[in-house]
Amino acid sequence: MEDQYGRQIRYLRLSVTELCNLRCRYCMPEDGVCKKRHEEMLTQEEMLAAIRAAASLGINKLRITGGEPLVKPNIVELCRAAAATEGIKEVCLTTNGVLLPKLAGPLKAAGVKRLNISLDTLDEAKYSFITRCGTLDTAIAGIEAALAEGFEKIKINTVLIGGFNDGEIAELAALTRRWPVDLRFIELMPMYDSGDFGPESFIPYTVALERLPELSPVTPDGGVARLYRLPGAQGNIGLISPVSAHFCAECNRIRITADGKVKPCLHSAEEYALKGLDENGMREVLRDAVFHKPKWHGELSFSERSHAGRNMNQIGG
Ligand code: SAM
Repeated sequence: MEDQYGRQIRYLRLSVTELCNLRCRYCMPEDGVCKKRHEEMLTQEEMLAAIRAAASLGINKLRITGGEPLVKPNIVELCRAAAATEGIKEVCLTTNGVLLPKLAGPLKAAGVKRLNISLDTLDEAKYSFITRCGTLDTAIAGIEAALAEGFEKIKINTVLIGGFNDGEIAELAALTRRWPVDLRFIELMPMYDSGDFGPESFIPYTVALERLPELSPVTPDGGVARLYRLPGAQGNIGLISPVSAHFCAECNRIRITADGKVKPCLHSAEEYALKGLDENGMREVLRDAVFHKPKWHGELSFSERSHAGRNMNQIGG
């Protein structure tokens, strides 16, 4: 699929639930989500129909996300069916890792090739603070369970937050020496309701570069991260800058929310409904949504929220 600006769209992020077993402060409200009625959400069959429709239009990479995708019942079956869909070359999944000790093996067997696991700090008290209810041990156990399964690639996602984890940049980066993982520092985006973070919480990716003078550049892999490596490391450091240096011109993705809305741009309120359509109907809507993908997401600032109109857990990161 090509949009009106000539971008080839080959990457779909499908959110399979808005629910989560953590409550990260920059992602969702403390009291969780206002649970929507079952009838408002895509069924598993509809999700698979959407994947087939997207694949028939040229989507070849699928990321399953949420909310927390691993709290969804039948997630392994969904991944297995997605991986078997004609045209889908790669199924990846983004998770907080909490349920990986139980699910890493079944997910690998179902055909999931790559995992992104979120980890914002290596300090126990800070981990419990940022997630509001998680424990660092559980997250580390999840990463280790995934490593034991031998996924093609494991990336750790760390949101950079000024005054919270900017003092830990070197320690977090050193995880690429301890484990064969990539670690990506992601700029905080103004997507949340809470008053937890003001403009001072935003730090640009360049701060990570300043704190890691021993990094050497690595040839880009076609993704949106700027890639570097520490001497002696087993994986790369990726720097992702949606706020300070947007990459909209290279954006090759669309999103589908758990309640069946196609979002051609993360930071736009524009949405196209899929719920209740058959595969052919979904194909038409996807084509239309892709064509109208906004040229760029507009300026993001911390004095106002992103125009996305939803919290991150209701979109899928
Ligand atoms: N529950 C899973 C997890 O924790 O990875 C998947 C969903 S979560 C919404 C996906 C990613 O979005 C996580 O890496 C999270 O850190 C990131 N994210 C959420 N809110 C964000 C924000 N305001 N700015 C930057 N990244 C954010």
